[in-house]
Amino acid sequence: MSTIAWIGLGHMGNPMSANLVKAGHTVRGYDLSEPALAAARDNGVTTCASIAETLEGAEVVFTMLPKGEHSRAVYLGEDGVLAHAPKDALLIDSSTIDVETALELHAAAEEAGFRFVDAPVSGGISGAAAATLTFMIGGRPDDVEAARGHIEPMARKIVATGEAGTGQAAKIVNNMMLFICLEACAEGSVLADRLGLDPQVFWDIASVSSGNSWALQTWYPVPGIVDSAAANHNFEATFSAALAAKDAGLALMAGEQTGVDLPAAKLVAERLQRLIDEGYADKDCSLITKYAAPDGRI
Ligand code: NAD
Repeated sequence: MSTIAWIGLGHMGNPMSANLVKAGHTVRGYDLSEPALAAARDNGVTTCASIAETLEGAEVVFTMLPKGEHSRAVYLGEDGVLAHAPKDALLIDSSTIDVETALELHAAAEEAGFRFVDAPVSGGISGAAAATLTFMIGGRPDDVEAARGHIEPMARKIVATGEAGTGQAAKIVNNMMLFICLEACAEGSVLADRLGLDPQVFWDIASVSSGNSWALQTWYPVPGIVDSAAANHNFEATFSAALAAKDAGLALMAGEQTGVDLPAAKLVAERLQRLIDEGYADKDCSLITKYAAPDGRI
């Protein structure tokens, strides 16, 4: 059993670290938010007052933070991970961030004598709770193999994606496809309703037909159809519009850098940004459904 430091105990970090506790590991956790820390304590995590304290005795360090700027601050800051982690600790960043920042962290970690992998995840909060996440891991092969054993209690699938930064590259493309599928569910659910279809009848058809997708199975944006959907809880975030807009923006940036035209991703990115502009940044990204309905009725 290992001592694991966990930094970032939000929607994903809390259920993920809880699964490491269940697997018998000692987990020491840190977050800026007191409610996040309280939830972690309920899960059996030993919460700490600083990053340095969290890192005491850590053999592995996981970070699950919102954006690249947060990962950069947590790893590179004066009070951060590279300054305070035990030198033999394996560092695993599971946040979804831009490839450039991931490469910067790989380089800084290596220079400071640490092993580091980028290991973002897919599967949402339901996958985090059920320990069925897919992990995409970029880095040196030995480090990726070392990470695999620590990740297993949280994962159904662990994929070595290649060199440093490729975990993030895979995640950015995957999420771009997710948001396009979510937009399809948004438009489809509203059109089905306006055509007079019962939502359950339509979902039952689409879920075994060519309209099926992970978004349809997990986030279908109509109340009362899919248990895990935010639509059942007034669109309280399972994946906030702010984080979804960040991911869609990462895909658009990658498109610009590679010369790939991404009109569908652009449309969803605009709708996610509109949610933020209209004050819904902390609501669930599936609330974009309101823009498919001219009268806003979902
Ligand atoms: P979240 O906002 O719920 O959690 C992030 C946590 O990080 C918050 O509790 C915040 O207080 C904490 N934090 C921020 N800065 C910190 C710092 N300097 N020190 C310590 N804690 C800090 O976000 P989330 O939904 O858990 O997502 C986390 C990451 O996982 C994001 O990159 C997101 O894109 C990705 N992701 C999310 C989902 C999902 O369905 N929610 C799925 C897959 C991947």
